[in-house]
Amino acid sequence: MNKQLFDLLALQEVDMKIRALKARLTMLPNERAANEKRLAVVSAALKVKQDKLKATEVAIRNTESEIARLNDNVQKLQTNSALVKKNNEYQAMLAEIQHNKDKIGELETRLLGLMETVDAQRTEVREEEKQSAARIKSIKDELHELISFEKEIKEQGRALVAKSKEFATHVESSLLDRYTRLLRDSGSPIVKLDGEICTNCSFKVTPQTRNACHGGMIVNCDNCSHMLYSDNGNE
Ligand SMILES: [Zn+2]
Repeated sequence: MNKQLFDLLALQEVDMKIRALKARLTMLPNERAANEKRLAVVSAALKVKQDKLKATEVAIRNTESEIARLNDNVQKLQTNSALVKKNNEYQAMLAEIQHNKDKIGELETRLLGLMETVDAQRTEVREEEKQSAARIKSIKDELHELISFEKEIKEQGRALVAKSKEFATHVESSLLDRYTRLLRDSGSPIVKLDGEICTNCSFKVTPQTRNACHGGMIVNCDNCSHMLYSDNGNE
């Protein structure tokens, strides 16, 4: 293999690694966003249950204080009724006492229901907290891995770019220009000619191109313009 070809292939190997790293790097923000979304979903599911529990706890406190207020009322009415002289006023007070007691009875029934609900909700929240803690931990671990992976890729990329610049100085400038133009396209700029088939576009080259290539020249594919090399005759 001639030295120009050897240097060019060494440069291409480094440049292809850089291209692969760049492609990998562009996928990372999406992967990170997907993880952050999963994290938000897990936290939201827990919050829904926590909010329901809080609402029940508030309802319990409100019901308890309403019962206490009504009990106070009953006490006051009973104390006052002893001082009332007129019968109709006395009857009205008794009716009001009964009304308060009925209301207290209703609220106590409601309170029992709320107590059952709050027990069930506390169990659910504890269960959800346990499960979501495990999920959150695994998602956060993945996020940290992605961040260090990104750092690693960038470091590797910097080292490879330096290497590519150095390797490029070994390649003759007109050859490097041809190569650099092709590097902007997809695929490898310089590919092997397999018999008479270009391994970039899979098309047959002309006999003239094939002969030149097998004779050790760096030629371009007639179809895709990628640079071709051959192992035949270059050994
Ligand atoms: Zn081709």
